[in-house]
Amino acid sequence: MSQYVTQCEGYSFTLVNIDCIRDSTHFNIVMDLERPIEELLPYLASRLPGCTYTHGTGVVNLMDTGHIVGIYPDRITITDVAGIEEARGLCARYFGIIREVEVNRSSITPVLRKRSTVSVMTILRALPGTNCGLCESATCMAFAASVYRREASMAACPPLRMNLEDCESLFEQLRENGYPVP
Ligand code: SF4
Repeated sequence: MSQYVTQCEGYSFTLVNIDCIRDSTHFNIVMDLERPIEELLPYLASRLPGCTYTHGTGVVNLMDTGHIVGIYPDRITITDVAGIEEARGLCARYFGIIREVEVNRSSITPVLRKRSTVSVMTILRALPGTNCGLCESATCMAFAASVYRREASMAACPPLRMNLEDCESLFEQLRENGYPVP
């Protein structure tokens, strides 16, 4: 497993080649923070729509355009990065979010309770299950996966739009997790 360490102001990051192949473009990032951010985690959880966070566990998890991101008191891990330029951009972005949350902390409502989490199956259970294809996905399962990855909105299922009142509790859960709802 090869590693490439880059130092930046406020943090350093290591690019880990998880294929063990010299020309691989398949890396994970481990970003080490110079200053611990444990007390900021509930505020970051509030700032990052769609993340999962249980107060006191010391980790905020989220999916970010295909990357699985874990934010811990002393580091951030990000999976599936194509190379150093993408890694630089992602680390700079997350460090920027930390700084922004730090500065605006007094105006952010922290997450101090367990958030209900959304899974593909949660979304699938609310869909009609007819696999009609009107949403341009081959099946309801494929559509549920697209919604979960934030590539589609529940509003793109026409049969669902006719029975919105039946889905209010799911919509509430989706809203809480930062998903757009009809
Ligand atoms: S439009 Fe709705 S019911 Fe039809 S396949 Fe898509 S998700 Fe399923």
